[in-house]
Amino acid sequence: MRKSTFLKLKLREAAFISRALLSTNHVVLAHIIPMRRCNLACGYCNEYDQTSKPVPLDVMKRRVDKLAELGTSIVTISGGEPMMHPELDQIIRHIRSHGMIAGLISNGYYFTPDRIKRLNDAGLEALQISIDNVNPDEVSRKSLRVLDKKLRYLAEHADFHININSVIGGGIKQPEDALTVAKRAVELGFSTTVGVIHDGDGTLKPLTETEKQIFHSVKKLGNKDHARLNWFQDSIAEGKPYEWRCRSGSRYLYICEDGLVHWCSQQRGYPGIPLEDYTMEDFKREYKTEKWCAPTCTIQCVHQVGILDNWRDPQMTPVQIRREQKQKESVGQVLRVE
Ligand code: SF4
Ligand code: SF4
Repeated sequence: MRKSTFLKLKLREAAFISRALLSTNHVVLAHIIPMRRCNLACGYCNEYDQTSKPVPLDVMKRRVDKLAELGTSIVTISGGEPMMHPELDQIIRHIRSHGMIAGLISNGYYFTPDRIKRLNDAGLEALQISIDNVNPDEVSRKSLRVLDKKLRYLAEHADFHININSVIGGGIKQPEDALTVAKRAVELGFSTTVGVIHDGDGTLKPLTETEKQIFHSVKKLGNKDHARLNWFQDSIAEGKPYEWRCRSGSRYLYICEDGLVHWCSQQRGYPGIPLEDYTMEDFKREYKTEKWCAPTCTIQCVHQVGILDNWRDPQMTPVQIRREQKQKESVGQVLRVE
């Protein structure tokens, strides 16, 4: 990534963070899924299928327009494997046309020099690739040996920020691979993070002693900004719950391929409202709603968004929110009668 592009991105990120600290009335980060289909079938993953079609471009554009209307700062395209979407570049262009930061999460398989240059032209600003091991096995083929050539192409041609995420837990057989992956990422000039893989319902699988040691070594190598933002991981690695306020459904949105808003990839179905019908009333209710799954949640990006508001606006359980709503309605009725 050119130095001038990097500085521009950092300035834009700083402006978005200041805006998010000043006002709680807009979405900070949305993940949007243009394609549930994936070319791989990782053993721990519940976010892909092997048959679905790409979401049509006009539908994706309308969803992006709605996210802009909700004041969204960053839109990250995820999947499935979003690089399989034939009109990915136009989706990225549309995000940028609204002044939002455009990000992408990919398994890395489809990067060629020409494809990378087209992503540069479309205005992609940030890419994350998760690499699970050094050699492919039955759990995962997101492997350094398979992807190293793609990483070299990216180092040479990409004009967007690249983060390589290595992973620990979730049945990954050689935890020491995470350190090899992180070292290679640093060598190629990328930033690096480490994630604890969640289980089927998005919650924690405790790390073994060896995994814990490797986890801390990888963290030391990584991006210092991310390390500062990911302190929740230290509790999670120790198997301890972490107290925080998950603002999914408001400051963070997950939009599935059917255009429904969900708390996150691991809590699909809540609130399950179509994005086109999503109102600030929904946004405010979800902002205030305490998420039962928060103490053992391992989803890094939602934790990072949560930091912006952890210090303000305590949350309530859904039951308390319904009770408060009923009280307000009763007061409203009394006032109307009087
Ligand atoms: S590459 Fe990503 S979306 Fe595809 S199966 Fe693996 S984890 Fe799931
Ligand atoms: S705490 Fe939030 S991000 Fe984490 S699993 Fe629950 S809803 Fe998803």
